[in-house]
Amino acid sequence: MSKIFKKNLSNKFPTKDISKDDIDNKLPLSTSKKKRIVKINNKIVFGEKKIPIIAGPNGVESYKLMFETAKVLKKSKISIIRGHAYKPLTFPYRSKQYSESKSSGMDIMDKIKREFNLLVVTELTELRYLDRICRTADIIQIGSRNMQNLELLRHAALTQKPIILKRHFGSSIRDFLGAAEHILIEGNNNLILCERGVSIPHTHRETSRFALDIQAIPALKEICKYPIISDPSHASFWAPWVPSLTYASIAAGCDGLIIEIHKDPKKSLVDPLQPLNFKQFKDLVFQSKKVASSISRSI
Ligand code: PEP
Ligand code: MN
Repeated sequence: MSKIFKKNLSNKFPTKDISKDDIDNKLPLSTSKKKRIVKINNKIVFGEKKIPIIAGPNGVESYKLMFETAKVLKKSKISIIRGHAYKPLTFPYRSKQYSESKSSGMDIMDKIKREFNLLVVTELTELRYLDRICRTADIIQIGSRNMQNLELLRHAALTQKPIILKRHFGSSIRDFLGAAEHILIEGNNNLILCERGVSIPHTHRETSRFALDIQAIPALKEICKYPIISDPSHASFWAPWVPSLTYASIAAGCDGLIIEIHKDPKKSLVDPLQPLNFKQFKDLVFQSKKVASSISRSI
């Protein structure tokens, strides 16, 4: 086969996928050089030396589950609880017991928040739930499936609440930052980006649904000064891998973590392979502290 030689091909001006034109004209806010931290209620900061952990079950299944979870978080000195009352599902079918807890789930989160003085992260799936979510949530999560739901991004941004924007599992970093730009342009700088795994050829097996794109963490940090957190639970879909992916995320420079936990993972109404049990979570926090301190950060 003859080789094709190009006369003018030189490596004098190497470029990355995101061009200078993108940076100047399409992503001016998300790629601005100003270092951004996100402070939640003067209590927790994303983007500084300390790495906050967000933990909780997938869905707000019951008051009892959230109560037990909150107790474990308090013991581990974790200040942010997660749990979704509104949930997008990959397939339209739900198990018989499982339906979204919706406003009653939000009432449970409200109670837990007051009783334990915890910050609440919960997912916004549709505009009509925005008001209810805003009454309780300290951070609004936009899930991967809604990364480019522009109306949802715009209205969430207008609340001025901190927002976790999860990367879609098929999205380039360029498109991810494009979505972030839709939040920033509304004047909301309380933006936290979240890497949560991408689809690649060997994924979507029973034990490896997505692949955590570890490289996205330093890549994003190089170009974007907003905090970037990692969700190893949704990436691997497989609890035994969550600890190593957590430690790798810390080593890669993440500014926060989302860990799915459940009192009895087998009984989790959604994704039962994914959550750590409480003991595993306590161990994870313990080990994470060591990894963080080895790179001069803390948990
Ligand atoms: C979740 O956090 O429960 C979730 C559904 O995450 P993702 O949008 O990343 O799939
Ligand atoms: Mn989930």
